[in-house]
Formats: sequence, C-alpha cells, structure tokens
Amino acid sequence: MDKNNNQLKGFNNFSKFIVFYMLLAIFMVYMYQYFFKTQVTQIPYSEFKSLIESGKVKSCTISEKYIHGVYINKDGDKIRFVTVVVRDPTLVKDLEKHHVKFSGKVTNTWLTNLIFGWILPFGFLFFIWWLMTRKMRGTSGGLFGLGKSRFKVYSNEKPDVKFSDVAGAEEAKQEIQEIVEYLKDPQRYQRLGGRAPKGVLLVGAPGVGKTLFAKATAGEAGVPFISISGSEFIEMFVGVGASRVRDLFNEAKKLSPCIVFIDEIDAIGKSRAVNSLTSNDEREQTLNQLLAEMDGFDSSKGVIIMAATNRPEILDPALMRPGRFDRQIIVDKPDLKGREEIFKVHMKKIKMANDVDIKRLAQMTPGLVGADIANIVNEAALLAARENRDAVYMEHFEEAIERQIAGLKKKNKVISKEEKERVAYHECGHAICAYLLPGADPVHKISIVPRGLSALGYTQQLPTDERYLITKEEMLDKVITLLGGRAAEEVVFKSISTGAQNDLSRATDIVRALVSQFGMDEKVGLVVIEERGGHFLTSEGILTKGDKVSEKTKELVDREVSRIMQECYEKAKTILTENMDKLDKLANELLKKEIINEEELKSIMEGSDGD
Ligand code: ADP
Ligand code: ZN
Repeated sequence: MDKNNNQLKGFNNFSKFIVFYMLLAIFMVYMYQYFFKTQVTQIPYSEFKSLIESGKVKSCTISEKYIHGVYINKDGDKIRFVTVVVRDPTLVKDLEKHHVKFSGKVTNTWLTNLIFGWILPFGFLFFIWWLMTRKMRGTSGGLFGLGKSRFKVYSNEKPDVKFSDVAGAEEAKQEIQEIVEYLKDPQRYQRLGGRAPKGVLLVGAPGVGKTLFAKATAGEAGVPFISISGSEFIEMFVGVGASRVRDLFNEAKKLSPCIVFIDEIDAIGKSRAVNSLTSNDEREQTLNQLLAEMDGFDSSKGVIIMAATNRPEILDPALMRPGRFDRQIIVDKPDLKGREEIFKVHMKKIKMANDVDIKRLAQMTPGLVGADIANIVNEAALLAARENRDAVYMEHFEEAIERQIAGLKKKNKVISKEEKERVAYHECGHAICAYLLPGADPVHKISIVPRGLSALGYTQQLPTDERYLITKEEMLDKVITLLGGRAAEEVVFKSISTGAQNDLSRATDIVRALVSQFGMDEKVGLVVIEERGGHFLTSEGILTKGDKVSEKTKELVDREVSRIMQECYEKAKTILTENMDKLDKLANELLKKEIINEEELKSIMEGSDGD
C-alpha cells in the first residue's frame, strides 16, 4: 500500500514538473521574441535600398550578418528594421549620399551565447536533478544529502498503539514484555542485572500483525518507532544501501531509547549461500553493514532492533548469532478464539447491529489473518453504508467474508474443507502414536491453523527432559510417530498425500543413523558406516579417504533402512486401526477447535469425558 502511494506521489510530482517546465519554456520563447524580434520589422534588402533612395532611412548599424536601423514610414513613425547583409559594394556610397548615419559593429554575441547556450540549459539540468533527488533525500539531509534514507520517523508522535489493539498473540506479548521493561528505562534495567537485549525477530505469515505488534511494543514502552522495509534499503540506488544502514543507526542513537523496525528483512538478510549464483554485492554490503552496526552499538543505549520476516529459513545464520537477532518470536496465524478477538478489536470503530454473531464470523474465517479480518470489517461497513443502513448487519459481514475468501482463493491461500479434514486426521495420527508410545516425546499441542506456506498443521512435541542417551526402542517410537501422520491418512481415506514429505525425511534420517552410525541393526552389525566421500583428517592426523564403504554395504544399509521404515509404518497403522474411535473423536474435536492442548488430548484418549 505504502509503496504504491509513494509511487503515485512521485508520479504526481513528475507531471507537475512537466507542466511547470512547459509553461516556463513557452514564457522564455515569448520573452525572447518580445525583446529581440517583435519590435523589429524584417524587410528585404531591396526594400532597404529603395528606402535609402527615398531618403527615409535615418540610421543603421551594419554587423557581420544583419543591418539594424530606423526608417520613417508614411505616417512619420520611426520604425526599427532589420535586414540581411548582402554583398553590396555601393552600399556605403549610397548611405553617404543620402546622409544616413551609419556605423559598423563586430557582432558581439558572447553574452547571449553564454546565457542561452550555457547558463540556462545547465540551470535546467541542475533544477531537474534537484527535483528528482528531493524525494530521495527525504526528511533528513540538505541539498547535497543524496543517499540519505527516507525512512519514516514517528519520532515526536510516538505510536499510540497499545497491546490491547493487538488481539490474541498472548504468548508473543508475554515474551516481549522484557523488552518493554528495558526500553522504559535502559539504565535501570541493566543496574538490576538484566542482559540488555538487542534484536528481536518476528516470524509469521504476511498480515498476522507483525508490524502492528512492533508498533505496539513502542507504544507500550512510550518510545519512538523508526521503521523501514528491507526492500527499500536495496531498491533505489546501488551503493547506498550500506550508508543508509549507517544513517538509520545514527538516527536511532539520537532518538534512543527507541525501536528500529525492519520489515521484510529477508530482502537484505537472505543467506549468502542460498543464491550464490545470483550473488548480489549490494545486498551483501548492506547486510554486512547491518551486522557491523548491530555489533557496534553499545547496548545500554536503548536501541532495540525488531525485524519481521515470513521466511526465517532463508535468513543468513549470521543474523541469528548472540548479540544480534538472538530472540525470535513467532506470531502465529490466529486460531478460532484469536479471530474472534481480532473481529472485536476492529468492530470497535463501527456501529454494529444486534444480529451479528462474532463467534460464527470467526468460524467462517479459518486460515485468515488479522489483515484479512480488518479488510472484512471494513468491507462490511462499506456495504452497509452503500445500502444506507443504520448499522452493519450480519448479512454484510457474510457478504464481505465471501468476497475476501474468493479473493484469497485466487491466490491459493485458503484450504478446502476436504484438505482440512485430511490435515486433521494426519496430525491426530501423529498425536495418538506419540501418546501411546512410551519412547515418543509427549504431545504439547496439535494445531491445524496453517503456518507459513508449507505446513498446514503441526503436532508439537516437547521432550520431557534433557537426554544424553536414546535407546533403540525410543528411536523406533519416534519413527512410528513421524509415520503416524501418513498412516492415519491411509487408514482413514485409503489414500495418501504429499503432506507427509517432511515427516518421511525426518524418519529416514533417524533410521539411517540407527543403522549406519549407532550400529543398532542386526544385519549391518556393529560398524559405523561413513558414507560421506572426500578426505578428512583422523584424530591421529592421518589423511584418509572417507568413502571406505563398498557398494554392497551401501545396498545392505539401504535395504535395512527401508525394511525398518516399512515395519514402523505397519506398526503405526496397527496402532491407529486399533484406536479408530479415538482417532475419529480427536480429529472431529480438532476440526472444531483448530488447536488441542495436552490436557484435552489426555481427556479424549482416556475417555474421561463420559462416553
Ligand atoms: P504484517 O506486518 O505481519 O504483515 P501488519 O501488522 O501489517 O501485518 O497487519 C496489517 C493489519 O492487520 C494491521 O494494521 C491490523 O489492522 C490488522 N491486524 C493484524 N493482526 C492483528 C491483530 N492481532 N489484532 C488486530 N488487528 C490486526
Ligand atoms: Zn506430519
């Protein structure tokens, strides 16, 4: 939105400039003619001669190309004239004969040449340059401050957004509380022994409210909020990205304590390895400058860098090192209850009819984020206004939701009912296996609120305690749990989907390690099989070739891995078939609530709710 506005403004400026330029040009031409042409009548040389003959010419000045002069016309008016010089040997004689005052003149045009040929054009060029760069210089910097960043500073007007304006996201609010305390009084915080935080990375899908959340953090702490988008750093001029980072941090130091917010940080912070083919020096310099600035400033200064991304996996790991963005806060897509809250926040601003059922609205909008809901409320209000109604009714919301979802469907953001059911069973498959198998980590949360682009749902397991040894049985239980998702799909829908790809690769990794690293497989036996090729130094300092495994052994490992995987998969299917009733119940509950926590899972699994 913002960017478009800027472009629009830029365009308006430009067209204004064009109009201005045209008017000025017309004016100049007119002036020129007025001073140098209009008062002077051009006459042919022959007429000039006959005017001399008839004694009408009073005086004339002869220069290299023209003859300027004055003659008297019939009415006795003095007329200034000009004519072109012709080779005429008798001219001087004629002039003398008729007593015309005349003088010669060396054409002296250097001044006009200077003005029209040099000063004016250069003046224009300079003017155009000045106009074009004015936009980029932004608020800071004088005439020659080219390359200064044009970030928006909300300096005097500290954001008045508060956490109460951000619905849901309770966990995130708690996590950020420490930062708020710090910003309120950096020195005091440090005196009390807190380690000064520096960078916070907000991770979440577009529109979940990351910007809003960062702004609200500034609002809660009562500090200025400086924001810039990562792509803005890079987009405009080559070579100034790094200097913009410097400017940004200088500005921040002046305003501290404050929050610097970098949206779309992935535009700068893309891992240097990710696209080494299309390496971008500009981006790299900017990134390096950012890292240097973050390392350089004194953390007691009270500058907190917040950054947002929806693709944390592509960020350069250097950004995540201690003293940089070492805190990450996940801003999830809202669940049922969260969506209800968001609806409420945005409905405060409009007049609501009594028939609006907010719970139902939340149910109608699975997978949508805060920005979508803000749009829906806005659209509903517009619809009501168009109909001249006294308030916004349920029908308006329903219509607005339909429109919003139709719009998103085009962008493939909404999952269908069938897909959702499949995801629910898939996740419950993981959860039930994890619950029943002693070796698997306990389930913390099951969710079918889509996250990011790939994961449609997830089952979060938390290890009970720090473990140093894992038994073979525990490893196999983990594998069965990982395969439980696909197993559930097969048992329930008699078909499988691509949704289990990540599960499969993680399960394969575990099994492969079991066979080739830990010597836990009977057939392969007690050996460590180093399958990586290349040379490396052994602990005795001998250069050895890593690949000392025969093709036959490799085949054996592959066979064993796939046999163990298959066995685990069969076990998962058996577990789920035996617990079909619980699987159904859990999946239905999940479809209703979208998120199921540990206790709810337990009560369903233990059947303690009565039936
Ligand atoms: P992001 O930065 O994650 O892309 P924004 O912060 O720009 O998302 O959110 C866009 C708009 O969506 C916000 O200005 C706000 O109106 C609305 N919004 C998003 N999340 C929430 C929320 N949790 N509570 C209230 N409004 C929200
Ligand atoms: Zn899965």
